[in-house]
Amino acid sequence: MMTTMRNKKGKKLTLSASTSTSSFPRVLNKQAELGSDGDLSNSSSAAAASARRIFIPKHGVGIRVEQLYKRYDALRAGGESFVGAAGFDLEIAPNRLTALVGPSGSGKTTFLRLVSGLEDPTSGRVFLGGRDVTDLSTRERRVGVVFQGYALFKHMTVADNIKFGPRMLNLPGDPDARVRDLLELVELPHVAKRYPSQLSGGQKQRVALARALAAEPRVLLLDEPFSALDPEVRAALRAGLRDVLRRAGVTAVMVSHDQAEAFEMADDVVVFRRGAPAARGAPGDLRSDPGSPFVMDFVHEANKLPAGCALVRRSGFATRKQGAMCAPCDVECVQRIDDSSSSSSSYTPVTVLDRSFAGNVIKYRIRCEGEGGEPGVELEAHVPSNATALTPAGARGGGGGGRRSGQEGGGSSPSSPLLEQLEVGSRAYARCPPDRFMGFQAEDLEA
Ligand code: ADP
Ligand code: MG
Repeated sequence: MMTTMRNKKGKKLTLSASTSTSSFPRVLNKQAELGSDGDLSNSSSAAAASARRIFIPKHGVGIRVEQLYKRYDALRAGGESFVGAAGFDLEIAPNRLTALVGPSGSGKTTFLRLVSGLEDPTSGRVFLGGRDVTDLSTRERRVGVVFQGYALFKHMTVADNIKFGPRMLNLPGDPDARVRDLLELVELPHVAKRYPSQLSGGQKQRVALARALAAEPRVLLLDEPFSALDPEVRAALRAGLRDVLRRAGVTAVMVSHDQAEAFEMADDVVVFRRGAPAARGAPGDLRSDPGSPFVMDFVHEANKLPAGCALVRRSGFATRKQGAMCAPCDVECVQRIDDSSSSSSSYTPVTVLDRSFAGNVIKYRIRCEGEGGEPGVELEAHVPSNATALTPAGARGGGGGGRRSGQEGGGSSPSSPLLEQLEVGSRAYARCPPDRFMGFQAEDLEA
């Protein structure tokens, strides 16, 4: 990857990924930062490989924390203290988008603040690009932040907001060209002369992103950057941000309270619980193999059923735990079963209580009546809406291995359950492959 830049005199320079990555230790040295062209002046080839002038070289670095622990002590004697980071190791790969999810108070913001240097750990170390930065300031770490509370400077134009960071860091290059390139990157080329009050919420967030990127961060940290925006703007920004991050080549870590948003955008997801990561992985892997009841419930908003209920029993799952949970996307729900088929006994009769359409998924709320005096249970079954069903379920034999990809709406595959649109109020049959259940106790799910 070649990236074109300009030095102080406006001369075009081209950076390769390897050159720029190696500049990191030098940039951490404040002396080298001030009044120096950095290694830009070492890059001789002015033959621009790309027609675009983008000021951001590929220079994201990996993040690593060791035994990161943060205790917020009470301000008054006898007050409670809170643990924001419970003492954990975590490594985040460079130049990728990692999403942090988890319940409120699980330590996501604390982690970002510790990585950014806005907060000091009680103990433990933070490394960026392999270098211990625990004792460095945010600016020295070259970390960019787009936090909810980090508003644009109201009295400055968009252009001046964007120029602010590079000026503070004395970064080389033509400031106006930088503004132009970054506004182009966030697809707002026409707003340079405006003041923040003349922008919509979504535009402000895009400018905030451009401002953060202008300082050529090694790591970009975003804490619920879209949470104040309405759903349509969020959806547009989501796609845009991903694209910008790709092109900018920065390591990005984003907290999102919107689980679907995080899973859609991120290369990697870390689920936090009680001040530490409870699971991590690629979105598809975490969906298909959440590993623990807590993560499964968080990732899927799982159905939680009494372990002994008819649906669990007939589906063929047994556990010593109180409950059995399954993801709505693993519940098969069909209108008819073939009584002569050997698999028919694995289905439980249900009533369709509600139906809604969400993208290419149909969400059914179903009720399974209790047998022999046990109470009935309600659960959700999510099925891809683009699949069609022509044959009764039982005709397929005992198959139905579940949607192991864990991706809802992934279309009809040979192992998909048979799908037809079920009418609200109608009778149907449901089951879940036994290997898609997980036994749980109430305390497994506590935040
Ligand atoms: P999240 O971003 O996942 O919602 P936080 O990192 O904000 O979680 O909080 C983690 C824990 O640290 C919570 O128990 C929270 O109450 C506590 N905490 C966070 N910031 C402070 C603070 N400034 N003072 C005291 N406790 C705090
Ligand atoms: Mg938070």
